Amino acid sequence: MKKIALILITVFTIFSCNQKREKVEVLPVKKEEIKQPIIEFGYNLDNYHIVKDTVRNGDSFGEILDENGVEYPIINRIAENIKDVFDVRKLRAGKTYTILKSKDSLQTASVFIYHQDKINHKIVHFKDTIKASDFKKKIKIVEKVASGRIESSLSKAIEEQGLNYMVSNELSEIYAWTINFFALKKNDKFKIVYEEKFINDTIYAGMGEIKAAYFEHGGKPFYAFSFVPDSTQKYQEYFDENASNLRRAFLKAPLKFSRISSRYNLKRRIAYYGNKVRPHYGTDFAAPVGTPIMSTANGVVVASARRGGNGNYVKVKHNATYTTQYLHMKSRAVKVGDVVKQGDVIGYVGMTGNTSGPHVCYRFWKNGKQVDPLREKLPAAEPLVDSLKQPYFEYIKPFRAKLDSITYPQEEIEFATLN
Ligand SMILES: [Zn+2]
Repeated sequence: MKKIALILITVFTIFSCNQKREKVEVLPVKKEEIKQPIIEFGYNLDNYHIVKDTVRNGDSFGEILDENGVEYPIINRIAENIKDVFDVRKLRAGKTYTILKSKDSLQTASVFIYHQDKINHKIVHFKDTIKASDFKKKIKIVEKVASGRIESSLSKAIEEQGLNYMVSNELSEIYAWTINFFALKKNDKFKIVYEEKFINDTIYAGMGEIKAAYFEHGGKPFYAFSFVPDSTQKYQEYFDENASNLRRAFLKAPLKFSRISSRYNLKRRIAYYGNKVRPHYGTDFAAPVGTPIMSTANGVVVASARRGGNGNYVKVKHNATYTTQYLHMKSRAVKVGDVVKQGDVIGYVGMTGNTSGPHVCYRFWKNGKQVDPLREKLPAAEPLVDSLKQPYFEYIKPFRAKLDSITYPQEEIEFATLN
């Protein structure tokens, strides 16, 4: 796909994501290859000499135009005239631009096109009159399906299917409240119906939304359907086949990807202490030092300190019933009184206090007592209102049928050697 896109870029002189640092002067395309004039950004590119380049660190709009033969008084006039549409101080290093110049020996620049991304562009026209405008490329959304089996990790399974890495991020977010992504099992599988965006029908412009997903975890099915629960809200949430919200008031874990190294256990015995019972009131999630730690629910920070065996720790009060606590941080990112939302980073994994390796000890308090969050039936987020249930069931029918018809990639077969 990328290769095709690259060829198209060179042949049709469409400029999109070329990150080349050196100045690229595009040669005129051979006569016999041109069947129709190439209209791009509203200009007939055949009539121009085209310069494409990348904004470098420290580059300014003025320097770029100056390098291309535009006089400073004119540059100032351009910047002043277009500031309502395009603030030229906001050019970002790494972004690309195209300059159209006259084909004569003077090569006078007359158009500057700044490519914000593959879809959005700013066009500055400064021949005779000065004007700037936004240019949005037409996007075609294509619905696609994919599936995979988990051998070691979700991201690896996604990669093996040649899918955008964003898919694993999206999936882990959709299922953050229902599936332990740090405890995926071999033979867990997934299927998705998702969108891909294309420019001019051919140039890949990134992943769209996951419309529907199915995750088989430990032999159990987990459906997820994207749905906008009310017209004023405008953003979608994911619900299962029974119209239950997949989001819970609490995340399953304070880290995105990690593994449980020690569970809540009131009868834990530790050899180091002569096999005496040393209850473990927390759930330990091991992860590299510096991994962001998230608040598992909305709340207010009631403690942020460094003390004894806890090391650096943060405590968040969620409501009258629940409080959570996070120990052994390398550093804390919040202070007492801060309001935190579910998923907000409150600190980073470390080894402060009594710990033999980098992990976060997650303590879950219910009515003043420490309990095992993995055994708690945690409250669900906003349910779908009754009046929307029937429309929802109608809406998901085709998606469910589509999901159910997707097949999995061939399983790897191990051959036994016959002797
Ligand atoms: Zn612990």
